Amino acid sequence: MELKDYTTEQLKAELKRRSELKRAQKAEEMRTAKRCRNCKHCKGEPISSWSIRYKCMARMWGKKRPRHYVVNPSKKACELFERKGGEE
Ligand code: SF4
Repeated sequence: MELKDYTTEQLKAELKRRSELKRAQKAEEMRTAKRCRNCKHCKGEPISSWSIRYKCMARMWGKKRPRHYVVNPSKKACELFERKGGEE
């Protein structure tokens, strides 16, 4: 069958199906990717009523007064990554 053999509705439905499939794959990729947000060491604490600061509870910096790294939850994970909930 060629493209011209399909009706406009069938083509629209196929486009919609493919776009939903792509969106679902992207969501799954975001869920399973090794990012700081999926790491059990990434902790958020409110710094104001509308903003949260995320800290890495596994890594420290500074010698005098060691502090936890501030992480961006969407950044790629480091070698200390451990998935939230335990499963890898
Ligand atoms: S920097 Fe590493 S250990 Fe810290 S939250 Fe991100 S992935 Fe986890």
